[in-house]
Amino acid sequence: MRVTIFGTGYVGLVTGTCLAEVGHEVICVDIDAAKIDGLRNGIIPIYEPGLEPMVKANHAEGRLHFTTDAASAIAHGDVIFIAVGTPPDEDGSADLQYVLAVAKTIGTHLQKPAVVVDKSTVPVGTADKVRAAIAEALAARGADVAYDVVSNPEFLKEGAAVEDCMRPDRIVIGADSASAIDKLKKLYAPFNRNHERIVVMDVRSAELTKYAANAMLATKISFMNEIANIAEKVGADVEMVRQGIGSDPRIGWHFIYPGAGYGGSCFPKDVQALARTAQQHGYRAELLDAVESVNHRQKAHLFELIERHYGTGDLRGKTFAVWGLAFKPNTDDMREASSRRLLQLLWDAGANVRAFDPEAAHEAQRIFGERDDLVLCEHAPEALQGADALVVITEWKQFRSPDFAKLKSALKDAVVFDGRNLYDPAEVEAAGVAHYGIGRGRSI
Ligand code: NAD
Repeated sequence: MRVTIFGTGYVGLVTGTCLAEVGHEVICVDIDAAKIDGLRNGIIPIYEPGLEPMVKANHAEGRLHFTTDAASAIAHGDVIFIAVGTPPDEDGSADLQYVLAVAKTIGTHLQKPAVVVDKSTVPVGTADKVRAAIAEALAARGADVAYDVVSNPEFLKEGAAVEDCMRPDRIVIGADSASAIDKLKKLYAPFNRNHERIVVMDVRSAELTKYAANAMLATKISFMNEIANIAEKVGADVEMVRQGIGSDPRIGWHFIYPGAGYGGSCFPKDVQALARTAQQHGYRAELLDAVESVNHRQKAHLFELIERHYGTGDLRGKTFAVWGLAFKPNTDDMREASSRRLLQLLWDAGANVRAFDPEAAHEAQRIFGERDDLVLCEHAPEALQGADALVVITEWKQFRSPDFAKLKSALKDAVVFDGRNLYDPAEVEAAGVAHYGIGRGRSI
């Protein structure tokens, strides 16, 4: 099938590439000319495992094209995806300006019938706004072209986006047109072979499904962080508690890890946007407000442990090695990352930072620029050189089993602040290194 995708970010580029991989003819459009230029020359703007070779192969084989020319891209697609950003507005609601700008562009150039698919995460009711924006642009040029607007939210995880896209748990299609549903079923047939993954529903339910999924996952994290904080107060170990509850299949093992708070481009903004949607409909979503405020507090918790260790919030003269900057492993994405809050708190307290992340150094450079109190290191041991203490904030696999004897000799104050509970406190302490974890009330 002929597919057009607006937006070549994490969602648009991965979706376009995976659709090309199964044989569809895909054109990806972006307004960022540098990004499109790079993609045409094999430069992939984001880090995602497996993405680069797939983009290059499909581009070389002529199934995946990149352009800034919206008119020709719209002429190409029988199915036109909107996969642009929906960042939070000042009040926490989703900013729809990019989505609606694409809708207007579609209406301005549409010449033949098409199914317009909203893949961006958008509040309930957005499909109506997209439909209206297309209609208005068509009317402005006196054109009458048939089109459907469908909601098809994306559930891929950064860090495993290609894998998720190639083997989705489910494909949600929200539509009220039988022909649009048929078209999307055909499009996704290669991903739906061994068992049924397609869930068809009405548009509003599909729009809400995406928010419900992210809000549920964020709730699990904030819940566990709440339990961790209680564990710290009462002298219990949340890691034991986690194992004690995860074995209950009604609870399960996924997403019950306490830590330094959730970040990324989705959970923070989607929890807030859903709460805002509820409020706009006269309902106060108290649970969602609590999920958000627990997370906000949790992002400062590692710093509180640092203050507790040093007995002061004045850290002038101290240097902290920080392992991990990305909001989670296997991505270079630092949007809303917990590391950003920690670094700011350390800098406000007068400390210096030597940071290492396997993929996010370029992003950190872009965000923070040149500063005297930040050194971005090439590898994990380099970050330890001259440092007083180590803070681990992203659970990259390579941080899981350090040589604690080496840590002891490298760190002047021989202390580790373990923001993801990667280490066994007893093992670290046996090496003569003080250990602070999250919710490890037995060792703090
Ligand atoms: P992103 O910021 O990585 O990429 C968005 C892209 O859209 C950018 O390249 C931007 O230049 C482009 N763009 C903006 N306006 C445009 C226009 N008028 N025409 C063409 N391109 C335009 O965003 P993302 O992370 O891919 O997220 C996209 C949407 O998908 C958001 O709504 C997000 O909430 C949702 N989502 C994201 C993830 C994720 O893990 N990142 C997962 C599921 C859903």
